[in-house]
Amino acid sequence: MLTDYHLHLRTDEVGKAADAFTQENADRYVAAAEEQGIEELGVSEHVYRFSDALEIWDHPYWRDQAVDDLGAYCEFVRTTPLRLGLEADYVRGAEDRIESLLAAHDFDYVVGSVHYLGEKGAVDDQRYDVWDSFPDADSLWGAYFEWQAELVRTGLFDIVSHPDLIKIWGDDRPAPERDPRFHYEPFVEALAEYQIAVEVSTAGLRKPVGEIYPARALAEMCLEAGTEFALSSDAHTPDQVGFGYDDALAFLEELGVERICVFEHRKRRTEPIGRTGLQQEELDREEAG
Ligand SMILES: [Zn+2]
Ligand SMILES: [Zn+2]
Repeated sequence: MLTDYHLHLRTDEVGKAADAFTQENADRYVAAAEEQGIEELGVSEHVYRFSDALEIWDHPYWRDQAVDDLGAYCEFVRTTPLRLGLEADYVRGAEDRIESLLAAHDFDYVVGSVHYLGEKGAVDDQRYDVWDSFPDADSLWGAYFEWQAELVRTGLFDIVSHPDLIKIWGDDRPAPERDPRFHYEPFVEALAEYQIAVEVSTAGLRKPVGEIYPARALAEMCLEAGTEFALSSDAHTPDQVGFGYDDALAFLEELGVERICVFEHRKRRTEPIGRTGLQQEELDREEAG
């Protein structure tokens, strides 16, 4: 089986929910997945697109974005073949409020993300650049993976998304002087204890860093800690569904990973990795001739 669980039906523009949450739009994603032999598809819209999120955190970006209705989104997704997920930010100190928001809906899974280190700024948005708040790359990387560890320890999430998003800018930002494995350590310790799934995300291939999240060394440490992986593209448009999956499958194979996580009503199981039969035959034929 292949999954693509971290999908956005909505682009980053505000006020487009009416266009995004339609049967036609969902069908475009489903068709793209079928073409690629991806059996399990789920949508995980950003929590901060929904007005309820302002109870969790009051940030200028969130205030701009938080216009959609979370209940309506959940109801809509249940009318489609898509699994119902949510990409929820971990916000330090807001654990109780995150918990009650998540408990109010019957999600299949919740993807936990660190996009912001609180008021210090954003990892992946230059308008609120977190790099301005830290003296050097090592202190920032250290703080980022502490946040990731805290996210895991809340026990509120099923999957930790883009696990080393901090590398997003690649060579445009200084690299830490320490071996990155030193910075990964607290995060991996939390994973060993809490056993939430780690996302293998091909989104990094579309970003300046040009590589899959997580880095190979981090993935190896996760494996040693007994972690299981979830597979996603973080697509924001149908043409990005299953983006870079050949690379992701090669990456997982090299690591010796043979099963991926599947979620239903927040229960996890694993399935053997592989495209659905017909699509694999077609892809093989294309390659052969
Ligand atoms: Zn994200
Ligand atoms: Zn996302």
